[in-house]
Amino acid sequence: MNLLNVEFAVIGGSGTLSSDFPLGAEAEDVKILADDLEFETPYGLSPAFRLFSVGDKQVLTCKMHGWRSGVNRADASRQVFWALREAGVKQIISEGGVGSVNHLLDPRDFIIPNDYLDLSVRKDVGLEGKYLLVMRDALCPEMRRTLLDTTKQHFDGRIFSRGVYAVTDGRHFESPAEISMMRGHADIVGQSMCPEVYLAREIGACYAGLYFVVNYGEGIVKDWSHQDLHDIFYNDAPMISRIILDTIRTLSAKGICECNDLRKETLLKGIYNK
Ligand SMILES: [Zn+2]
Repeated sequence: MNLLNVEFAVIGGSGTLSSDFPLGAEAEDVKILADDLEFETPYGLSPAFRLFSVGDKQVLTCKMHGWRSGVNRADASRQVFWALREAGVKQIISEGGVGSVNHLLDPRDFIIPNDYLDLSVRKDVGLEGKYLLVMRDALCPEMRRTLLDTTKQHFDGRIFSRGVYAVTDGRHFESPAEISMMRGHADIVGQSMCPEVYLAREIGACYAGLYFVVNYGEGIVKDWSHQDLHDIFYNDAPMISRIILDTIRTLSAKGICECNDLRKETLLKGIYNK
């Protein structure tokens, strides 16, 4: 299987998991090209990827950020991004369900974040470390604009074009005190944007995400409902899949953003640049 020139990747999360992405979208121009692709990486065997085409574009995708039993999340992320780099991926869309921190948000609001706050303790998650990674505009402005336009075409509810995503380790949700600490600093909370956003910059790919509020953070507005979480998980996945496919159809293969200029050669040659 020649994986060169696979320009796009979708890192699936809880928003699409129940719909066998991309099949749940029932799109006529989608073809599955290969399934269960696994790659030997320096960090262990990768999660299974699916390769599919939408129109004339090829896309690699994996489920639930590559997380699985018996593999820590740092290694899972390294395996995913090592594989995406080998495949030549240049534009990555991630998605997932998140909790609210900002008390103006409700379940079933969409957020396309423009920044993040890494509260995880997985700080040393990189590949070879050859680059100095500037994390200004870490979420690609061009991809965010396209995500916003396509989400509007599929969804009548509230869509926020910016917001700060606070990242925690999980797998548990956050305590009321933790959510209280984040208030004023972040709008939503989840577990996936880091290390993905760093690793995307390290492999020279643009990265942006579409996040659906599935619960109130503890202590925000009111106690959240497991039934809502369940209903969103099963009922809204095809819509999220259609948004992502439309975004890929719309994105130009060669981005016009400046993301790549924010990856600099390290000055620490001989230490990291062997
Ligand atoms: Zn970009």
